[in-house]
Amino acid sequence: MNRAEQIQRLGKTTKWDVLVIGGGATGLGVAIDAANRGFKTLLVEKHDFAKGTSSRSTKLVHGGVRYLAQGHVDLVKEALRERGLLAKNAAHLVKNQSFIIPNYRFIDKIMYRVGLSIYEKYAGKLSLGKTKSIDKEETLKKLPNLVAKKLKNGVVYKDGQFDDSRLAINMAQTAIEQGACVVNYAKVSNLLKDNEGNLSGAEITDETNGKTFEIESKAIINATGVFTNEIMQMDKKTYRDFVVPSQGIHLVLDKEFLQSNEAIMIPKTSDGRVLFAVPWHDKVVVGTTDVLVEKAELEPKPLQDEVDFILKTAGLYMEKKPTRKDVKSVFAGLRPLAAPKKEGKRTKEVSRSHKIIVSSTGLITITGGKWTTYRQMAEDTLSKAIKLRKLDKRECKTRHLSIHGNIPKEQVDMANPLYVYGSDITAIQNLQLEKPEYAEKIHPDYNYTTAEVIWAMRNEMALTLEDVLARRIRLLFLDARAAIECAPKVAIIMAKELNHDDQWIKHQVNNFTKLAETYLLV
Ligand SMILES: Cc1cc2nc3c(=O)[nH]c(=O)nc-3n(C[C@H](O)[C@H](O)[C@H](O)COP(=O)(O)OP(=O)(O)OC[C@H]3O[C@@H](n4cnc5c(N)ncnc54)[C@H](O)[C@@H]3O)c2cc1C
Repeated sequence: MNRAEQIQRLGKTTKWDVLVIGGGATGLGVAIDAANRGFKTLLVEKHDFAKGTSSRSTKLVHGGVRYLAQGHVDLVKEALRERGLLAKNAAHLVKNQSFIIPNYRFIDKIMYRVGLSIYEKYAGKLSLGKTKSIDKEETLKKLPNLVAKKLKNGVVYKDGQFDDSRLAINMAQTAIEQGACVVNYAKVSNLLKDNEGNLSGAEITDETNGKTFEIESKAIINATGVFTNEIMQMDKKTYRDFVVPSQGIHLVLDKEFLQSNEAIMIPKTSDGRVLFAVPWHDKVVVGTTDVLVEKAELEPKPLQDEVDFILKTAGLYMEKKPTRKDVKSVFAGLRPLAAPKKEGKRTKEVSRSHKIIVSSTGLITITGGKWTTYRQMAEDTLSKAIKLRKLDKRECKTRHLSIHGNIPKEQVDMANPLYVYGSDITAIQNLQLEKPEYAEKIHPDYNYTTAEVIWAMRNEMALTLEDVLARRIRLLFLDARAAIECAPKVAIIMAKELNHDDQWIKHQVNNFTKLAETYLLV
């Protein structure tokens, strides 16, 4: 996955079948499907792949227990099917995760046991394992840091867990392998129309040098998440806001706050949401919240109240209670909610079932959904595009399409620090053998090596220090202070590989440090 090659292809090709705007889960899924069906496909992402919401999820591949409780059976069934398919198509990244609901009232055991058994039944052949009840002793044995006072028992169920931005990078590689042209740091800066006012193409700006390209495309797919309004208004100035952003944050803590490989699921917090504490790369991710915010931003900022809420709620269930100084990293993500049609009306979630909107000029907007359901969202979007945009009728074949890096489940060795690379592990190990300095760690407390930094630049289109430390290696999300500490070292490695000067190193370290400080609480 080489950016120079992709840009060259973009420069040489003016006519495309499908243009996808946005390189998050949704856009990347559409690009894979379109290319796999044999359409000439171009995807552009204005920043880096998964820079938006798609690197800021709770890291669950799940049906959504909450939606079952709300009676959205079809949505849950769809997500459970997609969970099962993804566990097979990206086995190197999707882990079978055990969750425990701790019950402090006897009645809850029956309710959750029954509810979760139905949840698992809906997964059919793609079930990840049976739901069971465990007594108080076993619950505490599995979760030693759980508050024991008044605990009655626990319910154990299975769901999927993954690394979101790593999957996004592997999806970009898959799209390219299927024949798509995929470029990060390339923005749709304008939409172009024919004489009848129908959408015919777009102007794309290479954000690294300001160069612009005009391209034509039979179908244009707007997959820009909380930036949906911007593209819709580029199409028609008269569009009202279609989505408003709602923020959810997560705190990352040391494993001592869980002391377990099992995750905790709290079905109902004081704000009526679900709270998860999920093991992730030797840390624990705790979240999330749901707060309307003014603006769609690529780098949303956690609010004091959100942080306090999570610390307080987690503290109700954890014997050793987390405080601000225990937070290794805090990150915020934005979900698109349906804007009210009239002012004063309540905002409603663009239900997690996705929505496809077609404008009178032909712009196809896909929004909502979940990471888990990206493949089905892509299938539905392409089917719509084929129907409306003079594309040849070709069937979707992504159900059993492997994502780059996929290896058989039995071969995944989670004890190997390189396990997230799947079928690329050997190539990275070869880099470590090639030069002794490539085997060096980038930070003494973490297993990440120089080879992974080199790999990210050569094969995963990483251009900046942030691309490497936030979305190829997840250090910014796991331990922001450690990320700041190793930034100068990683910048020097990158400058050598990419032929950049000292000024570049200084600029990158400054920018990254400023950003990473916003992931710290103290
Ligand atoms: C707090 C939180 C927790 C979540 N947890 C889970 C979970 O555990 N499991 C799950 O399944 N789902 C989860 N979700 C949902 C999931 O993360 C989202 O559904 C998914 O990431 C949305 O992806 P997207 O591609 O639509 O949006 P994004 O990832 O935001 O991608 C949109 C992209 O469009 C780009 N873009 C914008 N304008 C332009 C332009 N003009 N030109 C080019 N590119 C442009 C942006 O830079 C951005 O990268 C969670 C969501 C939130 C907010």
